Amino acid sequence: MLELTALHALLLDSLEEQIAVIDREGVIVYVNRAWTNFGLENGLASASSGTGNNYLAVCNISGSSGDSLAGEAAAGIRDVLAGKRVSFHFEYPCHSPAEKRWFMMRAAPLQGDAGNLFVISHHNITQRKLAEERIEFLSLHDPLTGLANRRHFNQFLNNAWRRSSRSRSLLSFVMFDLDHFKDYNDELGHLAGDECLIKVGQVLRAAAGRPGDLAVRYGGEEFGLLLEGTCLEDAAKIADAIRQNVHELDMRYRKTRLITVSAGVASVIPEGEQSEIFLIREADKALYRAKQQGRNRVVCAGTS
Ligand code: GH3
Ligand code: MG
Ligand code: MG
Repeated sequence: MLELTALHALLLDSLEEQIAVIDREGVIVYVNRAWTNFGLENGLASASSGTGNNYLAVCNISGSSGDSLAGEAAAGIRDVLAGKRVSFHFEYPCHSPAEKRWFMMRAAPLQGDAGNLFVISHHNITQRKLAEERIEFLSLHDPLTGLANRRHFNQFLNNAWRRSSRSRSLLSFVMFDLDHFKDYNDELGHLAGDECLIKVGQVLRAAAGRPGDLAVRYGGEEFGLLLEGTCLEDAAKIADAIRQNVHELDMRYRKTRLITVSAGVASVIPEGEQSEIFLIREADKALYRAKQQGRNRVVCAGTS
């Protein structure tokens, strides 16, 4: 083992990054303070990841007890030790009971050592991952109501469509549109209109309780509810409960008028050449009929 100067030892112990040096067999020959502390703070068998232990064996033990990420990490490190890869980078979650955390592991030859020693480092990338999660959330949700946006809905619908096609089960969609919303906006202003949309969004969110359900803000004052494994009759009941709940929000304008919604419901067992546009179009046609028949009502596709 090469000598560490006092300055280098202090420097390595000052880093946040957890660093170990292993030999060609995977035996740990050096660890910095952050590496040791991480083991202690996380109740890991610190003895098993300290110097003199085989790091590949530590990963393999975790891998064989069900941690598939540890198995992947060990395989990547082995490739670097065998010279099959120049380096190996591996991002992995390592959530503690108190917080979400992610790390990036890197394995690479120790520079200038003629291939006998290798550096393993673990770097906390939680801030970046949380920012990525936030950006992903923003790209998939409507900022006003917090419901899914069209992009999210289209992906979700596509998956639900294929699942329902395989299992030969019913997929239902309800399209909602606020009634005379322009009048509400014109009288009370755009901000009050926004508040109204938020409240209607909350009613829809509460109705989308199962994993196969998704509430979407489809457009300005148009909302949708996708219901996997739900027949037309049940979807119509859910739609009517939503209609009722919106009515009971008691959002008044022109003294006596209340905000209401109209809804169109459609159900299909997806098959063959049909595309998911069919389901949306059918619900939209039924919604149009609900408007024509006087609003504040639910109309099912295929009924007169
Ligand atoms: P109908 O019963 O036929 O649906 O009548 P409507 O007045 O609801 O329909 P129309 O399409 O004429 O008007 C929709 C209104 O929704 C007009 C538009 O300003 C309002 N709107 C759309 N998006 C938003 C929004 O994000 N915030 C607010 N406050 N209003 C919105
Ligand atoms: Mg509309
Ligand atoms: Mg409307």
